[in-house]
Amino acid sequence: MPIRAKVASSVSRTAAALSRAAGRGDGSVIGGWIGLKIDPDLLRNLAHGRAIALVSGTNGKTTTTRLAAAAVGVLGPVATNSFGANMPTGHTSALAKAGTTPYAVLEVDEHYLPRVIEDTTPHVVALLNLSRDQLDRAKEVAMMAQMWRTALAAHPDVHVVANADDPMVVWAAAHAPHVRWFSAGQRWHDDSWVCPESGDPIERSGGDWWCTGCWLRRPAPQWQVEDDGVVDPGGDWHLIKLQLPGRVNLGNAATALALAAEFGVRPIEAVSRLSTVASVAGRYAQVERDGRLIRLLLAKNPASWLEAFDMAELAPTLLSINARDPDGFDTSWLYDVDFSPLRGRPVLITGERAYDLAVRLEVNDVPFRHVRTFDEAIASTPAGRLEVIANYTAFQDIRAELNRVN
Ligand SMILES: [Zn+2]
Repeated sequence: MPIRAKVASSVSRTAAALSRAAGRGDGSVIGGWIGLKIDPDLLRNLAHGRAIALVSGTNGKTTTTRLAAAAVGVLGPVATNSFGANMPTGHTSALAKAGTTPYAVLEVDEHYLPRVIEDTTPHVVALLNLSRDQLDRAKEVAMMAQMWRTALAAHPDVHVVANADDPMVVWAAAHAPHVRWFSAGQRWHDDSWVCPESGDPIERSGGDWWCTGCWLRRPAPQWQVEDDGVVDPGGDWHLIKLQLPGRVNLGNAATALALAAEFGVRPIEAVSRLSTVASVAGRYAQVERDGRLIRLLLAKNPASWLEAFDMAELAPTLLSINARDPDGFDTSWLYDVDFSPLRGRPVLITGERAYDLAVRLEVNDVPFRHVRTFDEAIASTPAGRLEVIANYTAFQDIRAELNRVN
């Protein structure tokens, strides 16, 4: 690396360590920010010489990144941004901290994907899904798909691993020369009823979909979930034993295996590593307190709420909603979620925007009880399982109450 990059990298590591020592989070954002101030090309310099995979999409990227890093780990040390700092400052900090590694698997915020592709010249890019998120600031789904499509067109050498079940992702990746399609399923369809190519309606039947007016249709996937395993491109089925709940995580495992295969990892070598992942920055963590077995599920937008309802057991369920900066200020997305799957279980609500949630649940005919604090929620439920579903900062608040469980 050039001298300037070495200095920047070292200062970045020190700043991150100081920030951690001061108890101000994991320090990856400030460390990366300072490093990039000293050397604006620092990310490019740190990426040079590594085989890199990027993971992007609206939902599932933190978990998929963790699973993929475990799978690629078959080949040697892997740098990764495991704390969910998924913008260039976080990538810079993660690579500076890891030192020299042959591989890196990085989670990338969907808005930043074009820039990070430019800076890191990845070998693989995994595209998970696109759906509405943070209504007050995020791009429209179709605009995001267009941005990805343009970025991939400028980098024809990239090996793309993309979700065949999401029409927006398929359209974004359709013209990339090297694409492997995976089928991870998609419960949320409300952002892909209109074809991004021709504007015609998209029809669905079972798992299949097609545009009624042009060539866009679901490609045949090379990787897919079948029962509790994954079928690889050779037709071999691999049993997947995960500690993470839900069918959505089987899909994330299929994606991780497909990504690792682009580096030459055979699924048979990687599957046992996937089962070592127990929770991801508090997501899916289980904690016992006062006789309650509490499980934390993060749900940030309509598509991820649907997945959370699928994962949650039929047990008392606490919902918590905030609308701070990282959550987005607009809570009108609550009306895009069908909360009816919660009928029949005791529902508690809390968080700074609990009253928005209260109105929504009333409209949706779901009985609930409001609690002011997490402790009150625990006191209001019988011994046994308590499911917690919360959006981003509400999730972090509850995680802090549980001593920052990982
Ligand atoms: Zn069309």
